[in-house]
Amino acid sequence: MKRLSLILFSALPVLILSSVIAQEGKSKQEAPVLSPTGYTDTPFLPGGKWRVHDDNRPRPEVVTPGKTAADAPSDAIVLFDGKNLDEWVMEKDQSPADWIVKDGYTEVPSKGQGVGGFIQTKREFGDVQLHIEFATPKVIEGNSQGRGNSGIFFLGSYEMQVLDSYENKTYADGQASALYGYKPPLVNASRKPGEWQTYDIVFEAPKWDADGNLLKRAYITVFHNGVITQYHQDYLGATGHKRVADYHTVRERGPLKLQNHNNPVRYRNIWIRELNLRAAD
Ligand code: MG
Repeated sequence: MKRLSLILFSALPVLILSSVIAQEGKSKQEAPVLSPTGYTDTPFLPGGKWRVHDDNRPRPEVVTPGKTAADAPSDAIVLFDGKNLDEWVMEKDQSPADWIVKDGYTEVPSKGQGVGGFIQTKREFGDVQLHIEFATPKVIEGNSQGRGNSGIFFLGSYEMQVLDSYENKTYADGQASALYGYKPPLVNASRKPGEWQTYDIVFEAPKWDADGNLLKRAYITVFHNGVITQYHQDYLGATGHKRVADYHTVRERGPLKLQNHNNPVRYRNIWIRELNLRAAD
């Protein structure tokens, strides 16, 4: 005990001294040199609105990302969280959506379960970012376009194809991630039947003048399971079957529609962000 006290008492002055030195060191520290938050004397960018590194340029709106890239960020509208289809109605008569909801997903009712038809969002959208997850039936029934066929229609008219494209010989412009009837995906990034897959999509709505003349086509960029399959690809027009698509529907906003093709395709975790693509101008 005596020895312990001796050690403690002899160590105490050293501790106090080192603490004083540390305090003095702190007070003697110089203020950090701050970097400028921007500049007001740099050249103007083309167009003359903002200078390079302009300090007066508005900073981007803050968005809190989801826990992972698959989770909805703070400014997203959640269209389906696995619990109900409150954001959706039947396309044909706007009655409540009749698709099956269970175990965190919604499933297209197949024949015999009371086939309702397409469902669509109650809300209308223009330019959007969409995250959607889907799984085609684990048990393969049928072939070609009869395998896990569904689809996502922007503005109710421009389809992004959903299909079981895993080792499935069907026409190229009808595969998963195709602009149906027009543009095949850059690559086939499909997972096996029954596995959950993701689409992360940027859709740009077509733009029209007051007289209904097309000013700008619709465009789409798609990541299928994280692999880019469409890059700023234009649409020929509203999707058709066995005909060439054309721009006959004059609209810049519309509902998001999901196709009932009589195959029990499943969807989950659907969220969407309305985009202002000129926000940084
Ligand atoms: Mg389809």
